[in-house]
Amino acid sequence: MIYWDYAAAAPPYDEVARTVEQLMRLHYANPSSLHRAGAEAAALIERAREVCAAALGVLPGEIKFTSGATESNNLAIKGIALQYTNRGRHIITTELEHPSIYESCLQLQSMGWEVTIVRPDEDGVVKPEEVAGAVRRDTVLVSVMHVNNEIGSVQPLAEIGRAVKAANPRTLFHVDGVQGFGKLPGGPRDFGADLYSLSPHKIRGPRGVGLLYVKEGTQLFPLLSGGSHEGGLRAGTENLPAIVAGAKAVRMAAERRGEFVSRILPLRNRLLAFLRNIPEFSLNSSEEGAPHIVHFSYPGMKGEVMARQLEQLGMLVSTRSACSSKLAEPSRVLLAIGRDEHAALGGIRISFGDEHTPADVAALEQALLGAVKALKIAEGGMR
Ligand code: PLP
Repeated sequence: MIYWDYAAAAPPYDEVARTVEQLMRLHYANPSSLHRAGAEAAALIERAREVCAAALGVLPGEIKFTSGATESNNLAIKGIALQYTNRGRHIITTELEHPSIYESCLQLQSMGWEVTIVRPDEDGVVKPEEVAGAVRRDTVLVSVMHVNNEIGSVQPLAEIGRAVKAANPRTLFHVDGVQGFGKLPGGPRDFGADLYSLSPHKIRGPRGVGLLYVKEGTQLFPLLSGGSHEGGLRAGTENLPAIVAGAKAVRMAAERRGEFVSRILPLRNRLLAFLRNIPEFSLNSSEEGAPHIVHFSYPGMKGEVMARQLEQLGMLVSTRSACSSKLAEPSRVLLAIGRDEHAALGGIRISFGDEHTPADVAALEQALLGAVKALKIAEGGMR
């Protein structure tokens, strides 16, 4: 079996898995405890914070640990909305966002906030002037992702950040950096972001930990009540093994980005060229997109059917993003970029990791040809 679903969850590096195990055994003390073992655990968390801050080019105090990017995104959106009601109740986001952003915004809308959802163009890119054009005096937050998790389109974040601040300097800017970090250059400071979310399990780190960069001076209304962990922003005993191993993965992803891209880009381009030559497929990704995601549709064929056929041929792929793949509805993102319902139901996402080889891509190409053939025979038989 060849695993092509790194954008959903990437296999942890060996050193990451070893770190989790070692820390679970050695540093089980509660970092809030006053005894020596507690202090050692607390020091490890602070060290992890420094490592993440260095990888992102920010201050250690600006890094907050959460349980994952879903929590980071919820905290960014709702924490800002609830904190800054005195500035207004208007939020801007895009049709491309991950459900943890999109649904958070819709939840706030049901509670009285106004939400403007900016549409992307047919390549899945939002225009900075359209985002900035939606900014008002009462806009508290703009949230735009770096790389779309379904089709891999890349947003011009530095331009968006500048345009938003020019339109209203008090409007805060959040970036969901989950699919961009380790793949594309740029961090929160380059984008002019006040908040930035990351998820270590997408970059070969452990699950159960997320990061939220919060620019110094930015306040958030905490979503969890309890202890004063993470500067009072996120109550709950820290997941020490995941935090320390997650920091390791963040450092490795930053250090290895150049190597990753030079290995994976030719493979991604080869696959794009191959897919363009198969008349049954229509591409939803392009060379301008992130190096690790290729998305295409087999219009008229449900994505799950194609994915199951590919699995029988030894390839593990996704239909879209993992969190939406069990939904029967057409993809919101594909509809937003102008694909019809047939194409939006028939999507397949291939996501690369640093271990893939040209032989893997050759095997995938053969499997894709085999799957089309098998599905055509099955279709013919049903007529
Ligand atoms: N944002 C994006 C763009 C994602 O791709 C994902 C995961 O699929 C998330 C947020 C949520 O991350 P996590 O799995 O850490 O909750």
